[in-house]
Amino acid sequence: MSGSAITPWVVGNWKMNPMQADAKALVNGFKELLQNNEIKEENCHLGVAPSMLALAGIQQELASAVRSVYSVAQDVSRIAGTGAYTGEVSAELLKDHQIDFVLIGHSERREIFGETASILNEKVKNALNAGLTIIYCVGESLEQRENGQAEQVVLQQICDIASVVQAEQWQKIVIAYEPIWAIGTGKTASPEDAQAMHAKIREGLTQITSFGSSIAILYGGSVKAENAVELAACPDINGALVGGASLNAESFYKIAQAFANTK
Ligand code: PEP
Repeated sequence: MSGSAITPWVVGNWKMNPMQADAKALVNGFKELLQNNEIKEENCHLGVAPSMLALAGIQQELASAVRSVYSVAQDVSRIAGTGAYTGEVSAELLKDHQIDFVLIGHSERREIFGETASILNEKVKNALNAGLTIIYCVGESLEQRENGQAEQVVLQQICDIASVVQAEQWQKIVIAYEPIWAIGTGKTASPEDAQAMHAKIREGLTQITSFGSSIAILYGGSVKAENAVELAACPDINGALVGGASLNAESFYKIAQAFANTK
């Protein structure tokens, strides 16, 4: 399977947003747009990642959408199972609530909450053992890019999880390449730079796993309706992880439309 034969994914990362009433309006607005039936299941996977607090409620709202929209957890505990771990939500608890997808390794978790490779490995291992599909985020800082280390940093972040992902489990991994300098800054990597990194990631994945050519590699970093078509046109960009623009139903819909129609 070549990179462009992969069904694209468009996933909205709501981060620590929005308030309850706005979340409801957002999801209802998106559901209404989906009624146009322009984004077919077979042309694009869709997902939204609300706060942990809103996850179950949003999932319930999405159950009546005309097509499936996955509910994605923004994080998962490094601890498996159940027990006395105040504030934590394990992979098993997510699964018990029919949540099948989780973001791991977002740069905000790495940078603000100090999540190291070994912490992320525990999360990856637990999520896979519980049967979750992981959207694993990787990306370099501006300094690393300027020092010519971008590729090495990103490939290392992928190699980091290789020790805990068993052979068949690579089918449950989606990669999101999110250059840190492009997240929430309005600066998008140029389609050429993004494609070049995605091609390197694809090459790295095919060396690590026999599923390397079928793993979706999403781009994230100031994706918006205005730049989605040119990003979607890149052969190794198999979708988008969208922050800011996913908080507007119409923008998010247009991004999804761009990937569904271009791929
Ligand atoms: C993100 O945080 O995953 C992200 C890509 O954010 P934004 O689209 O706002 O840059």
